[in-house]
Amino acid sequence: MAKFQPISFYKPESSRPGEARELLPFRFKRLADGVLLTNMVGEQAIVPPTEFDRFVSDTLDSASPVFTELRSKHFFYFKGEISPIHLLALKLRTRKRRLADFTGLHLFVVTLRCEHSCPYCQVSRANETGSADRFDMKLDTAMKALDLVFRSPSPNLKIEFQGGEPLLNFEVIRSIVIEAEKRNELAKRNLAFVIATNLALINDEILKFCSDHSIFISTSLDGPRDLHNLNRPRPGGDSYERVVAGIQRARTILGESGVSALMTTTQASLGRAREIIDEYRSHGFTEIFLRPLSPYGFAIKTKSFLKYNADRWLEFYNAGLDYVIELNRQGTRFTEIYTAMILKKMLTNDDPGYVDLMTPAGTGIAAVVYNYDGNVFASDEGRMLAEMGSDTFLLGDLKTDSYEEIFTSPALLDSLEESFSGSAPMCTDCAHEPYCGSDPVWHYAMFGNYLGRKTESEFCARHTSIFEGILTRMRSDNFTRNLFHDWAHL
Ligand code: SF4
Repeated sequence: MAKFQPISFYKPESSRPGEARELLPFRFKRLADGVLLTNMVGEQAIVPPTEFDRFVSDTLDSASPVFTELRSKHFFYFKGEISPIHLLALKLRTRKRRLADFTGLHLFVVTLRCEHSCPYCQVSRANETGSADRFDMKLDTAMKALDLVFRSPSPNLKIEFQGGEPLLNFEVIRSIVIEAEKRNELAKRNLAFVIATNLALINDEILKFCSDHSIFISTSLDGPRDLHNLNRPRPGGDSYERVVAGIQRARTILGESGVSALMTTTQASLGRAREIIDEYRSHGFTEIFLRPLSPYGFAIKTKSFLKYNADRWLEFYNAGLDYVIELNRQGTRFTEIYTAMILKKMLTNDDPGYVDLMTPAGTGIAAVVYNYDGNVFASDEGRMLAEMGSDTFLLGDLKTDSYEEIFTSPALLDSLEESFSGSAPMCTDCAHEPYCGSDPVWHYAMFGNYLGRKTESEFCARHTSIFEGILTRMRSDNFTRNLFHDWAHL
């Protein structure tokens, strides 16, 4: 017998055209140059319209490459076959495996005070000189929050300190880290710490503590000096100078990989994507997260959010992504993180666990927020909404409520259930659903309910455009396709 057989050799007898086939669940969307099919595990195929019509009318030639592709990606099976259904179930379980871990990211808002006064601030901060007694987390509140952290079944626990500017309450950070490490001697989880800081107040004593306890630094860098200082005012107008000096000093003590930076896109950033990326490169960063502004906190109060819409942000994102691809083409390794996370959902059976792009939503079940005053929120954005007067995502109070009461509160369960994209109008029929998320907080901020109206939702418009842009780029040339496959596995 010949070593290599034609594909028909491996097909069962029933694979002849017209034999009994069963479609497996899938969604589709007609694009300009083909039909996109996706299924519940994110497998995708773009096929010519004529082949698609033959597929759904059960007249597709079993010798055609489309037939083989759709079969291998579980868009149909032959009656009597069991393994395709088992494989599909296995892939779905793998994709949703983070649900079993439950909450892994625990955000501690150790103070609301900040010495910056960024107009887009999502946090509704208090002044640096505001009352520490009123706006700082107390030690007993912090210890109650730690009780909840260690009640989580997740094998991976990340504690992230936020503010305001968390370094204004560094003593409580120090106590939480030392106590968490002590408790972890018995709990034996993978414990990690992050301080999200503007670095203006960093000093060697704090960095030494970070080094001793493997604490990672996440900072904000919005772009070149003029843009950063415009976006991030502080007394002395030297936010940029301080963050650049802070990054260098932190790297000296924590190592190159001990510091990362995030940027926020404001109206002033639009049109400057290349400059912002070059600024990141000039400081030795090899990645950037081109994030849109969120409709929370001071961003809404100061109308920063309303100054630009999804289309203008998409122009910015697309210009940035094209530039990043070009850099890679020229031999410079650089990654756009938002795209990379979406690619992981598109091209692997894994999920990056990014809270905004999870369904069921990641609020509360992937990340939870312990506020300085003891309130527990489903997400950072839920806390921001509370600062604006809406307690919709308030799960409970550390002083009075138990772990069970907090994590089964109607505020959490209702928002998860009602926003679930698998049963949300429009999302249920959307070919992009496997790559998208629910984000009940974003929709609540914009529409006053967990679901929103997807036809008017900037979240929906933005992601539809991103997904289709990624698919188009992947088909445009081999270099981009290979680069995107690399990013999906980062
Ligand atoms: S939000 Fe929009 S893009 Fe996302 S799944 Fe729903 S309909 Fe599709």
